[in-house]
Amino acid sequence: MKVMKFGGSSLGNVVGLSNVIDIIRKASVADGGGVVVVVSALAGITDLLVEGAGKASKGDMTYNDEIDEITRRHHSLINDWFGSRDQPETLKAGVDRLIEELRSIVYGVKLLRDLSTHSLDLICSYGELLSAFILTQLVEGSLEADARTFVITENRRGTDIVNPELSEQLIRETIPPLLATSSSNVVITPGFISSDKISGRTTTLGRGGSDYTAALIAGALNADVLEIWTHVNGFLTADPEVIPEAYTIPALTYAEATELCNFGSKVLFPPSIYPVCRGGIPIRIKNTYNPSEPGTVISGERDYNDRRQIKGVSSISDTALITVTGVAMLGVIGINRRIFSSLAEHGISVFMV
Ligand code: ASP
Ligand code: MG
Repeated sequence: MKVMKFGGSSLGNVVGLSNVIDIIRKASVADGGGVVVVVSALAGITDLLVEGAGKASKGDMTYNDEIDEITRRHHSLINDWFGSRDQPETLKAGVDRLIEELRSIVYGVKLLRDLSTHSLDLICSYGELLSAFILTQLVEGSLEADARTFVITENRRGTDIVNPELSEQLIRETIPPLLATSSSNVVITPGFISSDKISGRTTTLGRGGSDYTAALIAGALNADVLEIWTHVNGFLTADPEVIPEAYTIPALTYAEATELCNFGSKVLFPPSIYPVCRGGIPIRIKNTYNPSEPGTVISGERDYNDRRQIKGVSSISDTALITVTGVAMLGVIGINRRIFSSLAEHGISVFMV
């Protein structure tokens, strides 16, 4: 069993899309145990959804520009894919149905001038619903599964947090039986989207959260590998836009990858490491546009041949360093609680102390 996640940069154009379909086909032949494919929204779509929803909540009708752009991008991907060949009726009709649904929801936000987290989550879910639907239509014989039926969140103090035990149980109850009842061994599911345990409402795992969906599935099904397909060759030693000499790191331990992710590397959504690390499942970061590149393997094994003390350097921008000093603080009970409480009250996340 293999779990493969394809990011938005792999799906937004015909070259990427045809590589993705090729990679899935090869994996389905090689892996008799089944292949679960998790997809992000096409590149840039989630940003457009957030922008459009924001405009609608202020009563600004130009939210239609964002929805039109979303429509245009999906239509042009499909048109480029088929070229002069006939397009299956179900594909275009399905895409248009999802977009019409989306347009009504955003119109509702415009009328109400109210954008709750729930509405925003529902609106954002359409990016992944569209990409998963399109890919299912294009990968012959593939099965579609709605991640909202098995990735379950619970609201704790206003934040939707995954219930990993329940989600893993539901994944085990959904995916293997789905594969068992079909001759196909490919299941395609949208990443990033989930549902609330009590209300059943659509929730999301946070920006970049598709990796987490894939990791939960890989962990629950004890997959042989979790592959994250993106547009770079793996974890690089540094941000190549800052350090042009940066090169791919062949192997990292889970702990090293966690450090790089928590401190600025964008390759992997940080919570994605734990669900697979627990079962010793390796994560392979691969380049959709360069599939023969070995990429980066993240596992529990340290590469003792690699003598470098420092594996990579990451950075976080737009960060404030706050220094609180004063002799009157010494021995005063509760001073740290007051500092951190005021930061929390203002929604400021402290990532390093
Ligand atoms: N589409 C979502 C985002 O842009 C989730 C993801 O790409 O992983 O944040
Ligand atoms: Mg990502």
